[in-house]
Amino acid sequence: MKIVHVASELYPYMKTGGLADAVAALVGALADHAHEVSVFLPGYRAVIEHGDAAGAERKLRLKIEMGDQFLSGDVRVFSPRKNLLVYLICREEFYDRRAPYGNGERDYEDNSDRFVFFCKGVVETLRLADVQADVVHCHDWQAALLPLLLREAERRHRVTLALKTVFTIHNIAYQGLFPATTFARTNLPDELYHIDGLEYYSQVNYMKGGILFADRVTTVSPRYAREIQTPEFGCGLDGVAQTRAEDIVGLLNGVDTSIWNPTVDALLPARYSRADLAGKAACRAELMKRCGFSVDFKGPVFGMICRFAEQKGVDLVLANRDFFLSQECRFVVLGTGDKRMEAEMRALAAEAPGKVSLAAKLDESMSHLIEAGCDFFVMPSLFEPCGLNQMYSQVYGTVPIVSRVGGLVDTVTDADEFPASGTGLMCEPNVASLRDALERALVLYGHPARYAAVQQRGMSRDFSWEVAAAGYETLYREAL
Ligand code: ADP
Repeated sequence: MKIVHVASELYPYMKTGGLADAVAALVGALADHAHEVSVFLPGYRAVIEHGDAAGAERKLRLKIEMGDQFLSGDVRVFSPRKNLLVYLICREEFYDRRAPYGNGERDYEDNSDRFVFFCKGVVETLRLADVQADVVHCHDWQAALLPLLLREAERRHRVTLALKTVFTIHNIAYQGLFPATTFARTNLPDELYHIDGLEYYSQVNYMKGGILFADRVTTVSPRYAREIQTPEFGCGLDGVAQTRAEDIVGLLNGVDTSIWNPTVDALLPARYSRADLAGKAACRAELMKRCGFSVDFKGPVFGMICRFAEQKGVDLVLANRDFFLSQECRFVVLGTGDKRMEAEMRALAAEAPGKVSLAAKLDESMSHLIEAGCDFFVMPSLFEPCGLNQMYSQVYGTVPIVSRVGGLVDTVTDADEFPASGTGLMCEPNVASLRDALERALVLYGHPARYAAVQQRGMSRDFSWEVAAAGYETLYREAL
């Protein structure tokens, strides 16, 4: 099949979260299966400067209609591997920035224009380069206008640009909500600014467009596919999601085993496997050193890696600060985002510098070291479309402590509830239940044989993308 992916992140060129990992792993697996795969990405500074893009060929000049203006841009293309092309939609004014969505404090003011231009650039490239896609697969709100813009361009130019469109919701909490005046920049027919179109309480909602107008809609876990159709998790789009109930499927993300795999991980000081955990001890020692902890410490080490956002349950962890201060344990946190949460986490680390460590930055190699060097991984999300770190944890022999929401339910089994099959510890997303799970972790760690059994079961789980990619291939075939 000729498959075109459209996303605002792609590992290793631009990443703020799981979207980048998921899209990269999926396109890699599809390319491995000999499909002809392309990925469209905004031409961010980091991508242009990446070695892979050094020889990028300038493919097209673009003139994109945005309301009553025409804005220029260009399209560059490179091939990082067999069967895979990366197209960059470039316009310095929009994408020559360090971060993809905002400056850390708040989102860029021109995000609507940036991603409308991006989507239109994709449509123009498909048309002018005569790509003839079987499937155009769009990810999250930044690409959610594609299904509508494609059909509109096909009507206008009397061509077929894509046989089918697929829209994947990686996180329904981020919808691309903009003032009504931005609708004019889409140049879509006025009747689409309507309750059955892009209009959402007198604003424009791009994600709504993706959900309503793609041929198929997917979420990144089966549980989340059901959750987004409920008021509790639908973030106001539950009613819209319900209208597509028949066409929504949940396909669980996987782990890219060429990157997240302790037997080959080049970012670790030592490698290890289920059969020989000696390397894990070496990783632990290195982690303790980096955090300024005593290497001789024998008790449990807890880790946490996440965007500091309400979603990730950072406040539930902070509300349990006395656990980390009073118990014989260590706690390593890697994360940035919300400034208030960062300050409170920094204060916790300052209170017990020999026990709690915060690295408030994005650090890919540190994230691998934490997954490898810890005994428990803390992930008490309030909601979680899929979540990757709880899967990485299991693969790295680090027992995850997760809340019973979304993809966490689909990927972790509680070891107290199911002693013969458990791979982690589960709680409800509240302070007391997390506290209970943390206490249960201490008990588990105090029983080395039981801990080892839970760890071994986690390490033998198969989260590889083979399963997920096969699910998408079936979905594409059925749609076609
Ligand atoms: P989300 O996409 O909601 O942020 P996921 O669990 O799906 O959550 O994916 C998060 C990804 O981002 C993981 O690969 C995780 O290791 C990575 N990550 C998050 N924060 C950091 C950080 N500060 N440094 C390095 N990697 C991080």
